[in-house]
Amino acid sequence: METDLFTPDFKCEPFWWEDAPRPEKQLSDLPAEVDVVVVGAGYTGLHTAIETARAGLGTLVLDADALGYGCSSRNGGQVSTSIKGSYAELSARWGHTQAIRILKDGNNSLEFLDTFIRDEKLECDWARLGRFSGAHNSAAFEASARALQGLPKEVAVDWHMVSRAEQRTEIGSDFYHGGVVYPDHGALHPGKYHDALQQKTTAAGALMCGHTAVTRIERDGSAFVVHTERGSVRAAKVAVATNGYTSQTTPWQRRRVIPIGSYIIATEPLSDAVAHELSPQTRVMSDSRKLVFYYRLSPDKRRMLFGGRVALKETDDTVSAPALHKAMCKIFPQLATTRISHSWHGFVAYTFDTLPHIGEHDGIHYAMGYCGSGVSLASYCGAKMGRNISGQGDAETSFADQRFQTRPFYTGDPWFLAPSVLYYKWRDQLNV
Ligand SMILES: Cc1cc2nc3c(=O)[nH]c(=O)nc-3n(C[C@H](O)[C@H](O)[C@H](O)COP(=O)(O)OP(=O)(O)OC[C@H]3O[C@@H](n4cnc5c(N)ncnc54)[C@H](O)[C@@H]3O)c2cc1C
Repeated sequence: METDLFTPDFKCEPFWWEDAPRPEKQLSDLPAEVDVVVVGAGYTGLHTAIETARAGLGTLVLDADALGYGCSSRNGGQVSTSIKGSYAELSARWGHTQAIRILKDGNNSLEFLDTFIRDEKLECDWARLGRFSGAHNSAAFEASARALQGLPKEVAVDWHMVSRAEQRTEIGSDFYHGGVVYPDHGALHPGKYHDALQQKTTAAGALMCGHTAVTRIERDGSAFVVHTERGSVRAAKVAVATNGYTSQTTPWQRRRVIPIGSYIIATEPLSDAVAHELSPQTRVMSDSRKLVFYYRLSPDKRRMLFGGRVALKETDDTVSAPALHKAMCKIFPQLATTRISHSWHGFVAYTFDTLPHIGEHDGIHYAMGYCGSGVSLASYCGAKMGRNISGQGDAETSFADQRFQTRPFYTGDPWFLAPSVLYYKWRDQLNV
């Protein structure tokens, strides 16, 4: 470990846990029977539980670790419309009508999150300050402009191009060849958002229990017996909300998601002048590379939080930290001597068609596969799953109509990850 790169109080833990430590919530005894068991207490699981509990169903949320220990307290807090692929790509693959539905769901997820946070008065540093997405070469700049101009009006979003000559108004860097600003995107504090959701889940009447892994789900007539490390619970319905942490407990879902580590660092506090220079508009930032880097200032605007994929295989947070620092300094040479205070990672879930999926298999409901952009999508899909389970209206999405694909012999261990990362890294380096 390069000690001069790390602050004396360096931690391999999310920066967010400083303000929002993970709760040690456990029930002394599990109930014998409930209407709904939700497996996984991230954004998906809690939004599902809020809907089912508010609809009057006895709901129990279980997590294998502390509540929100997965991606939902580890992410970058960047919020967007989150769909992978342009209209042209989606319509070529799925046809015009389905492409529009998919893009609408992405736009709706952002609006859903915004409305939920404001209506429910969640304290989570939510701010819609916009995104700057840098173009890593001039072809990427032209391609973004073309893709946005080609968006049908039903799914139009606000955007404007920023030329390379103007980009210092957006970012303290000459690394990019201009970029796009999406003024409606936003940022929140992931840990505070999760804490606020826990309060709403409890207020709705649902029970939550951490450190209780579900080990087996057994069919019992039209109901289920959910076996855990701490006893069994009978439930009329089961919702799986395990995303990148999906295990062999639900093998059908596990064969359909590709767990991929995403890594972030937080820097030590910066001076106001440096922070302002790096991000004059305090927008969230990302870029057009296949191996995308995403970054932003912390909510108090004092630190840079910089994330991405820097290793071919999953690695240690002390190994990813210097690699992320190096990638950060390519964009911001000003940070060459700035030290790292936190380094962490979590597992996101990619899918073979790069779309999220909601559905029911063998009577078990699931929502997962946000492909690394799940703050708004997990919230939205979780709420839709909860509405579906409790028989409420407004439960439809385009994601429920897509076949949830797997590949022959794939069991959930992505052996192809390292060659794929290498290939994308090579393409990014060649600037194609
Ligand atoms: C480093 C990083 C940065 C990211 N940045 C962004 C970003 O800036 N913007 C964005 O939109 N998205 C981002 N994401 C993705 C986003 O955080 C996720 O898509 C989202 O949080 C998924 O929520 P979830 O509830 O579906 O899953 P998670 O929050 O991962 O929760 C799944 C839970 O299931 C539990 N579980 C698994 N198996 C069992 C079992 N058998 N029994 C009980 N519990 C079980 C796990 O313990 C875990 O807590 C990022 C992710 C990471 C890791």
